[in-house]
Amino acid sequence: MTYRCVVLVKQVPDTTQIRGKAMNEDGTVNRAALPAIFNPEDLNALEMALQVRDRHGGTVTVLTMGPPRAADVLREALYRGADKVILLSDRKFAGADTLATSYALKCAVERIGAFDLIFCGRQAIDGDTAQVGPQVAEKLGIPQITYAETILSLDGDEIVVARALPLGREEVKCSLPCLLTVVNTANRPRPPSVRRAMAYKLAATPLEYGALLEAWPEFGSPEALEAYLVERGLQIPVWTAADIGADESMLGLAGSPTKVLKINYVVLGSTGSKEIPPDDEGIAQLLQELAQDYIL
Ligand SMILES: Cc1cc2nc3c(=O)[nH]c(=O)nc-3n(C[C@H](O)[C@H](O)[C@H](O)COP(=O)(O)OP(=O)(O)OC[C@H]3O[C@@H](n4cnc5c(N)ncnc54)[C@H](O)[C@@H]3O)c2cc1C
Repeated sequence: MTYRCVVLVKQVPDTTQIRGKAMNEDGTVNRAALPAIFNPEDLNALEMALQVRDRHGGTVTVLTMGPPRAADVLREALYRGADKVILLSDRKFAGADTLATSYALKCAVERIGAFDLIFCGRQAIDGDTAQVGPQVAEKLGIPQITYAETILSLDGDEIVVARALPLGREEVKCSLPCLLTVVNTANRPRPPSVRRAMAYKLAATPLEYGALLEAWPEFGSPEALEAYLVERGLQIPVWTAADIGADESMLGLAGSPTKVLKINYVVLGSTGSKEIPPDDEGIAQLLQELAQDYIL
């Protein structure tokens, strides 16, 4: 059996670079001052989906909701091996909390059509709630396996997954379709392929035609550029609220019951110390912990 995989990915500000002008006076993140990156655990989710496709056949479709520049993570997904990518972008999505975000994503997944597996990162490094994956599963009415670390078996419409929990490991069996949220110890994401980067370097959404025409004026007009991209499978589709048949009252600010009342700075003081054995194992453990906390 082959598997139709959908991966939900988010473009995030690189919160490991918070310094200088990266914070606004009101305590919110100045997104423009930080580089935008692929949410780290979404790379693990993408890698898990690519491994399923490579082993069993099928497709990997990557979906992100975000502003026009979120197309960057979709190009990166193509360079790393995704078959199809879709940008969900509309001013009507702006100001969404996790409830409105997961509603829009659920509508988009339904528009994609039949699927077997949805992969999400466990958590985004900016919002940090870890709510979106589980909420999408709830809204689609499918089972979810959170903290997924290893797919132990995938046979027909049954999957067995090992979950990485703070106090150990749990093995869970589940029927498809289902949604997994993937942890950063699951795998080592493959790097972008140079061959694919050459093939997809012009992949663009219609929202980027202006910039593309400035860089390559020889295309002449947006119509000629579009014909060129469509013919070569390089046009990244952009879906709006209308395209996914969403109820507008459940999108963006209107659909977001969460209100941020106050933002506090938290300064973490040192509370203790930990001795690291001066051997290879001790150093490897330290490096793993630093990577897990995004310090490295
Ligand atoms: C009142 C309120 C207003 C907000 N307004 C804005 C705003 O105007 N602009 C803004 O950028 N943010 C806004 N946010 C933040 C926004 O709600 C969250 O960034 C978003 O819902 C995702 O939550 P999270 O970052 O905690 O993701 P998590 O739940 O931690 O993410 C888990 C996983 O879900 C998937 N996922 C999460 N988000 C997306 C996405 N967008 N596309 C595809 N997959 C995804 C990824 O696989 C990710 O690893 C607002 C939040 C609140 C509470």
